[in-house]
Amino acid sequence: EVRVRFAPSPTGHLHIGGARQALFNYLFARHHNGKFIVRIEDTDQARNIDDATDKLMDSMKWLGLDWDESIENGGPYAPYRSSERFDIYPKYIEQLLKENKAYRCYMTSEELEAEREAQIARGEMPKYSGRDRDLTREQQKAYEAKGIKPVVRFRVPDVNEVPSVVIHDVIRGEVSFDTDGIGDFVIARSDGVPTYNFAVVVDDYLMKISHVIRGEEHLSNTPRQALLYDAFEWERPHFAHAPLILNEDRQKMSKREESIMQFVEQYQDFGYLPEGLVNFLALLGWSPGNEEEKFTIEALIERFSLERVSKAPAVFDKDKLAWMNNQYMKEADSDRLTELVIPHLQKEELLGTSYTEEDREWLKNLVEIYQEQMHYAEEFSSLASLFFQSSIAYEADALDVLNEDHVPEVVTTLSAQLDHLEDFEASEIKKAIKATQKETGQKGKTLFMPIRAAVTGQTHGPELPKAIELLGKETVQARLADASH
Ligand code: GLU
Repeated sequence: EVRVRFAPSPTGHLHIGGARQALFNYLFARHHNGKFIVRIEDTDQARNIDDATDKLMDSMKWLGLDWDESIENGGPYAPYRSSERFDIYPKYIEQLLKENKAYRCYMTSEELEAEREAQIARGEMPKYSGRDRDLTREQQKAYEAKGIKPVVRFRVPDVNEVPSVVIHDVIRGEVSFDTDGIGDFVIARSDGVPTYNFAVVVDDYLMKISHVIRGEEHLSNTPRQALLYDAFEWERPHFAHAPLILNEDRQKMSKREESIMQFVEQYQDFGYLPEGLVNFLALLGWSPGNEEEKFTIEALIERFSLERVSKAPAVFDKDKLAWMNNQYMKEADSDRLTELVIPHLQKEELLGTSYTEEDREWLKNLVEIYQEQMHYAEEFSSLASLFFQSSIAYEADALDVLNEDHVPEVVTTLSAQLDHLEDFEASEIKKAIKATQKETGQKGKTLFMPIRAAVTGQTHGPELPKAIELLGKETVQARLADASH
């Protein structure tokens, strides 16, 4: 049975790299009718942030990545939070100690630091020397008498026995690590709390995880984890390491990256649609093998395979994300988009905290005429700003248009035509424009450009009759009058 997990540490909001990892696990599980598990790895308590777990789960829900087992709904291998599993690990630590596959190490942090510095000074790769590998019980007692609390280290097999640790990675093929380069690593801290490398192995084993799918940044941990599986004589899961995500300068994205928004929550706040972000994230490393780019989540589930995940780094192209999101905005329900733009308009003080049903209807109409153009909801305030300002700001090319000789005649004629209308609505306005065409003999660009420039201050923009309707009679007449001289 396929059982996969996303195992975030609650150290912050859901990062886009984490979201991609969660998505790949989710798609793989659903494709194989397997189980998708969310486990919270909070063994490094100093790094935990208070409400990070809730935020992570909220972002997962927003993306639509529903899970089968988690801290929220439990499951057959509960608990799903490492810190609630602290009574599980000691037994396994004891087992390794008893089998002499692990040992207590009494080196203080000062001693370790001194050792490290000496190695670096000699031009060696720093690595724990193994000083306490073969202490006698008396020696251990002597340290303990001094009040030193030991950590537990895993005894990495000797290079002569195991020259290298070979990982058969589903995405990267065979990856080999020299055993020599791996120092005896800590599996339990002096307070007994297991380290990530240890807890992750025990948890994945007990939760019957079949495939460990995660980002390449974890690849260097994998040989340590593989050695632990081997030491316990447990079957290793399949490992699959998805490629790094680079920024547009082809640099590894840092947590302080400024050119790209880092967290799923930021995209949510900016008014992206989860289906657009999911589609984009799926293509960060995975490809369907042809030019197709737009996939619903159902299509992704059907098409996804680890074999089609590349080893080459994926570049985060934010223009492509905006393009992708626009694809979904175009076809989204306008009520949904209206709800998304409202907080942004309120933030810009273009809309009050309370508004009438009529205002909302007007806004929905306005959203509809910008829907084709909108990449994300935050953009709407500036896209549609001319509908919210009483004074008009003319763009340079609009001013050029308005300087043409025939403009006063066009705008005065239209103004008179509009005056006669009973209903100031798009189909009637269209007729008024037609009548202006007849009367003035202007048509096409020479007719529409002056009107557009006069009422919107721009030379491009949404569908004109509807825009005029939504601007309202008073505003339009005032702007036409301004443009008539
Ligand atoms: N808790 C680890 C992290 O957030 C999980 C790594 C893994 O998937 O094994 O980076």
